[in-house]
Parts: sequence; structure tokens; C-alpha cells
Amino acid sequence: TKKFRLAVIPGDGIGKEVVREGLRVLDHLAEESNGRFAFESDFFPWGCEYYLENGSMMDENGVEKLKDYDAIYFGAVGFPGVPDHISLWGLRIAICQGLDQWANIRPVEFLPGIPRRLNHPDVDSLNWVLIRENSEGEYSGVGGRNFSGRGPGKEVAVQSSLFTEHGCERIIRYAFDLARTRKRKKVTSVTKSNAQQYGMVLWDEVFVRVSKDYPDVETDQWLVDAMAAQFVLHPEELEVVVASNLFADILSDLGSALSGSLGIAASANLNPEGRNPSMFESVHGSAPDIAGKGIANPIGTIGSASLMLDHLGLTDESKRLDTAIEDTTRQGVLTRDLGGTYSTVQITDAIIKNLSEVKTKV
Ligand code: NAD
Ligand code: MN
Repeated sequence: TKKFRLAVIPGDGIGKEVVREGLRVLDHLAEESNGRFAFESDFFPWGCEYYLENGSMMDENGVEKLKDYDAIYFGAVGFPGVPDHISLWGLRIAICQGLDQWANIRPVEFLPGIPRRLNHPDVDSLNWVLIRENSEGEYSGVGGRNFSGRGPGKEVAVQSSLFTEHGCERIIRYAFDLARTRKRKKVTSVTKSNAQQYGMVLWDEVFVRVSKDYPDVETDQWLVDAMAAQFVLHPEELEVVVASNLFADILSDLGSALSGSLGIAASANLNPEGRNPSMFESVHGSAPDIAGKGIANPIGTIGSASLMLDHLGLTDESKRLDTAIEDTTRQGVLTRDLGGTYSTVQITDAIIKNLSEVKTKV
């Protein structure tokens, strides 16, 4: 039996509810494998409750502890009572930056059976993947408050973006390499280099330089404001979209909403060199407005489990899980965010049932 060691961090709010469902799916797949592989999960109770008790979001040497695992499965962080910048920096960003998970892959899938928010003649043909720079940029943490010489009511705060040539180049190359494996072979780069004249101009220059190594890949460069409109007006022009930490964060929420709901978007925080474990999580947050009601859509987190399976070399299982998710939405088994009436648990039950059927089909 091949054993995969998972570090599971459910986090806060609906994070806990959807990670539980993802683990049910993983357990089902392991059971079905008849001893070919198994998952050994260790749970880490890190998050806002942990913070309120211990004064930090995770163990002091938490990032070190995670290095022992094959992968990290993450719910979401953030809950009223703890400032969002504390919870985000104390856990998710601490892990992504601490383990050098510099590539955040965020596919936007247009699943069947979901009410369309995008008015487009061929929505089913759309298939985007956002590549988010995940180590620096606007989330570099460089800045400060309370600069001297200013009195009350006149505080000055600085928040700097940090772009390195190395950081730009590795994420842009990642996007080009991925584009080569896809149908259209197109990379769209998104910046705001008219207004951000240092870091983003560097990004643009690196993009043009790297693109010369990929003459077989079509390229496109956009400013982020125009790109937001392009997502809605000409979505068929998009395939692989590479952008900075903040811009890709924003565009991935837009992409997931256009494809149906924030609740269905999956993501992978990769350390592509494989020195450290990678982390798999949905795109959405802890959704305090629906937490505890049993109505959160688990598809984003279950889809993230599929990305994790693929990453661990279980590619057949990953494909079967994707098919089972598609079958489930096609059957109209949907949570409230998609206009349905099914609960979190019922969606998972349907996915597991469909998995068994996909098995007999393959
Ligand atoms: P959010 O993604 O939690 O929620 C935005 C909206 O989408 C809410 O109306 C929510 O109900 C809905 N939604 C999100 N996921 C859903 C799902 N699976 N099923 C159904 N509906 C879903 O974003 P927010 O409200 O801006 O932030 C809430 C908290 O989450 C904050 O503390 C924020 O800092 C944190 N956050 C964490 C992460 C992360 O852990 N990676 C990401 C984003 C936000
Ligand atoms: Mn986000």
C-alpha cells in the first residue's frame, strides 16, 4: 500500500464543513483502491479559535511541522473577532510563503447544469486557468504605519509591492509551460504597468523576454481593469491567465462567480520544485454568513482534493473525481449558492455515488 501523509488544516467557518466532505471523498477513493493507496491524515486545529486561546494562528514552529507531509489540505481562515489581516498572514500566507508555494493554480471550470451568469453563446467551451504569483507582489508585507512627524488624524501608512526578476520569471515560465499542454496554447499576462511604473513594468519586460523561448505559444498583455471587462465581454479569448498576487486573487473570484459561484472554485498552492509540500484549498473564504448551516458548497474543496490527487500522481482518480463532480451538477444536485436546495453533505453523497458509477464506466 502506498501511503500518503496529509496535513489537514480545516481552519474556520465553512472551512471545517467542506474539508470534512473532501476527506470523505478521499477516504472513499482509498477504500475503492483495494489497498493500492491510503491516506494518513493528521489534523491541525489552527485558525481563529486557536488564536483566541493561544495568541497565534498556528504553532510557533508550525510551518516546519508541515514539511513532513506529502500534501496539505486546507479549508479557509478568518472569522469575526479576529482581524482578517491577522488570520490571513498568521496562517495561509505564512504557509504559502514559508513553504515557497510560489505558484497558485486556479482553474475556472464551467460545469454543466449550473445556471449561467455569463451571457455567451458557447459557455461550455470555456476553460480558463488563472496562474497567481503567490510569493511576493502586493502581498510582500513590506510597509509600515505611524511614520514620525504626523499627529492624530494625520497618520500615514505605506504598503509596498515587491517584484523580483526571479519571482516574475518563474511564475511566467510556469504559465508558458502549462499553456503548451493545453488546447489553444495561449498566455494572457495581466498588470497595471501604466500606473505601477516599477514592479509591473519589470513584470512586463520579463514576460516579453520569456515569451521568446515559447514561439509556439500565443501571447496577450492586458491592463487589469480592461481584463475585468474582457472576462465578461470576450471570455473565449482567455485560456491561461498569469497575474500578480493581488490581481489574480481578484480575477479568480470574478472567474468563479461567472462560472456559477465562488463555492465551486478549486486551487493549488504549489512548490513546483517539490522541495516542500504543496497546499490545496478552495478559492473562497470562511463565509461566516453561512457557517454552521450545512449549506456551504463543498465542490471547490472537493475539486481541490482532485488537484491534490493529480499532484500526488493519482491521475486516474483525479479524472474520475472531476467526472463525478460534473455528473453531480449535470443532475441538478446543487447547493443554494447555485439555486439548488441540497445540503453540503448531500452534494458529497451524490459525488461519491457518481464516483462508483464512473468506476463501472471506465
Ligand atoms: P468568502 O469567500 O468567505 O465569502 C464571500 C461570499 O461567498 C459570501 O456570501 C459566502 O457566503 C459566499 N460563499 C463563499 N464560499 C461559499 C461556498 N463554499 N458555498 C456557498 N457560498 C459561499 O469571502 P469574505 O466574506 O470576503 O471573507 C470571509 C472571511 O474569509 C474573511 O475573514 C476573509 O479574510 C477570509 N478569507 C479567507 C480566505 C482563505 O482562507 N484562503 C480567502 C478569502 C477570504
Ligand atoms: Mn481570494
